Amino acid sequence: MPLSLSRRAARTEQSEIRAMSVACEKVQGVNLAQGVCDTEVPQPVREGAKQAMDRGINSYTRAEGLAPIREAIAEKMRSFNGVECDPETEVIVNSGSTGSFYAACLALLNPGDEVILFEPYYGYHLNTLIAVEAVPLYVTLRAPEWQFNREDLERTVTLRTRAIVLNSPANPSGKVFTAEELEWIAGFAKRHDLFVFTDEIYEYFVYEGRHISMATLPGMRERTITMSGYSKTFSITGWRVGYTVCDRRWARGISYFHDLIYVCAPAPLQIGVAEGIRQLPESFYREIGVEYAQKRDLLCNTLREIGLTPSVPKGAYYVLSDASILPGKTSRQKAMFLLQETGVACVAGSAFYHGGGGENLVRFCFAKTDAELAEACRRLQTLPGKLRTPVTAAQTS
Ligand code: PLP
Repeated sequence: MPLSLSRRAARTEQSEIRAMSVACEKVQGVNLAQGVCDTEVPQPVREGAKQAMDRGINSYTRAEGLAPIREAIAEKMRSFNGVECDPETEVIVNSGSTGSFYAACLALLNPGDEVILFEPYYGYHLNTLIAVEAVPLYVTLRAPEWQFNREDLERTVTLRTRAIVLNSPANPSGKVFTAEELEWIAGFAKRHDLFVFTDEIYEYFVYEGRHISMATLPGMRERTITMSGYSKTFSITGWRVGYTVCDRRWARGISYFHDLIYVCAPAPLQIGVAEGIRQLPESFYREIGVEYAQKRDLLCNTLREIGLTPSVPKGAYYVLSDASILPGKTSRQKAMFLLQETGVACVAGSAFYHGGGGENLVRFCFAKTDAELAEACRRLQTLPGKLRTPVTAAQTS
């Protein structure tokens, strides 16, 4: 047999977001394609990590992570999320929430198991399911409120369905699932005996409504795998520190796969994050909401002005915009046009849909410093002059 990639690898392709970032670098544009928050890392987090290195905390840790961070996470889960968990047996520190989802899928899904995914989805969720040979089933969230149709879920689920993925606040739609929606999904998961994988990485980035953890709903604790982390909250995407909280029956298996793939999250960085959780006051987290709401408003107002009507997000830090006014048949062509004409990179909407969806959408990320965001908005304002059919007042309202 000739050398070849595995069938699994042959199915993968370069992420649209990375491709756009490369194109953006070439034209020295402003990159609103990628979710990288280049804001400052809080001081206790940095100092905690530095001191841990100096104190010699540089070796492998237990697969589940060091005690101080597991204890800090358990306390935060109790006080912020309202979820009681045992730091010894029900908390696993992972290599980012990305590592959490991958290890959880390996531990809890068999090849061929179906998993329901809302679309627009976060690409890593889909590709992780594909990598573990699970079968994604799609349920579409409908703009502008990104609501789901209950009948769609009932029609989609089968006897082979094992789980549903929830992401609230959501990337890319910015949807914050309401209490009523979560209660309905909880009932659905119980009726069909499903795990709920809930990605809560944007739990502090909420501008309207409030963050509710699925595990707090009656009867959901045992079937909910809560995944989150500090990449976004502490602006440490490169540190790779996230976590899983779940019933001890599942935690052992998840910890095993985490060990097998990553061994452990970086030891001194676990301590830095533990110190951040322990020392930062509640106001730190409240300010994230205020600061990012301002960034959201600046970007959304600009997009509205230039005719790329935004769907204003209630949480997370992305905006999906209507790209109808941009030339091009596909959302990729539209995104490239915008980059070439204004020097602002965004992501083609098709990256968040299967089978031809999202072609009239593009996604912008506003996790940028104020100066970068202001420059992006200045560049975006040059768009109307570059379109053959100028934007009219009616189009922009
Ligand atoms: N989950 C969602 C929904 C995301 O948007 C991202 C990053 O963009 C991640 C997870 C990655 O988180 P981590 O850095 O903790 O792996």
